[in-house]
Amino acid sequence: MRRPARYQRSVSYNPGEPKPVNACFTILARNHDWRSLRESMKQMEDRFNHQFNYPYVFLNDKPFSEEFKNMTRSMTQANVYYGQIPQEHWSYPEWIDKDKAAAKRKEMEEKGVMYGGSESYRHMCRFESGLFFKHPLMQQFDYYWRIEPGIEYRCDINYDPFLYMKERGIKYGWTIAIYELMNTVPTLWDSVKKFVAQHPDTIPEHNSQWWVTRDNGTSYNGCHFWSNFEIADLSFYRSSQYSKFFEFLDREGGFFYERWGDAPVHSIAAALFLQKEQVHWFEDIGYYHPGWQHCPSGDTWLANRCTCDPKDTSKTITNAGWGKCSREWKLLPDTPKGHRKALL
Ligand code: GDP
Ligand code: MN
Repeated sequence: MRRPARYQRSVSYNPGEPKPVNACFTILARNHDWRSLRESMKQMEDRFNHQFNYPYVFLNDKPFSEEFKNMTRSMTQANVYYGQIPQEHWSYPEWIDKDKAAAKRKEMEEKGVMYGGSESYRHMCRFESGLFFKHPLMQQFDYYWRIEPGIEYRCDINYDPFLYMKERGIKYGWTIAIYELMNTVPTLWDSVKKFVAQHPDTIPEHNSQWWVTRDNGTSYNGCHFWSNFEIADLSFYRSSQYSKFFEFLDREGGFFYERWGDAPVHSIAAALFLQKEQVHWFEDIGYYHPGWQHCPSGDTWLANRCTCDPKDTSKTITNAGWGKCSREWKLLPDTPKGHRKALL
C-alpha cells in the first residue's frame, strides 16, 4: 500500500549532530513558566522537532531554577542551554527618567492599556526588540524560532522551515498578523519617520512598506507580525541597519514612556528594511497563542493532521476584523511595477 505523503519523511537529524542550518529555538521564560512550557514543548516535539532535534536556548532575567531545568530538559532529546540575561539588557538605560516612566505606567494603567502598568513587561519588550540575539548563548546560531509558554502547534510540520528559509534567502517568517493596540505605540511611527529621514539609504525599493501604512506614510496602520511566533535569520537583527534602528528607538524612550512591543518594532523593520520576498508567511503552520490561532484549511489541513478548526471564528484569524492584515499581505504585490515614490 502506498503511504500517505505525510509519512514520506526524507530528512531527520540526530540530537548532537550538526544541522544544515545553525538554528535554535529561543524561549524567554520565568521559572514558574515551566508547566505551560512543557505544553509548548510537547507540541513542538510531536509536531516537528522529534524529527529535527534543533536545540533550545532558554533565557531568563533571573537564574533558572533546577526545577525549571529538569522540567524542560526532560521534554526533548535535543540539546538545551540555559542562560541568564545580563543586567544591562534588562534595566533602564541612563537617559531614561525613571520617575517619568513610573508616572506614565500609572497613567496607562488607569486608562486600561494592556500591560500598561507593568514594568517587567516593558523590559521584556525592549529585550525582545533589540537585545535577545546579543546573548552569548545566541552567538553560535544563525537562525532562531521563538517559542512561548502556552502556545500550541496544531498541524504537523514535516519539513525544515529553517532550511526552507535559508535556501530561499528568507530573513523573516511569520504565521499570524494582527492590528496593534494603538494606545501602546502612540508615537512609534513618528520615531520611525525621524529615523528614516536620517537614514534614507536603508530603505530598499521593493520592501513591504505599504503594508504598515494606509495613508502614504502619515500614520502607522497597526499591522504587525505576531512575534510570539517568528522564525528569523539573525543576520537581519545583527545588521548595522537594525542595530541603528533599535538604538534610535531606545533613545526615543517609548519602550518605557509608552509600551512599545517587540512585535511592531520587528515588523516595521522587516517591512521597511527587507525586500518583500525576504519575508515569508508560513501559511501551512497551524499555530495558537492565547487569543488567536492561524489554522490552514483544505488539503494542507488533512495532510498535516491539523486539529484546529479553521472555521472557529472565536479563535481563528480570518480575512476580516483583526485578521485583515494577513489578507492585506496577500494583496501586496511582490515587486511593485515601476519605481514607487519613497514612502517616508
Ligand atoms: P504576551 O504574549 O504579550 O501576553 O506576554 P507573555 O506573558 O506571554 O510574555 C512574552 C514572553 O516573555 C513569554 O515568553 C514570557 O515567558 C516572557 N516574559 C514575560 N515577562 C517576563 C519576565 O519578567 N521575565 C522573564 N524571564 N520572561 C518574561
Ligand atoms: Mn505570550
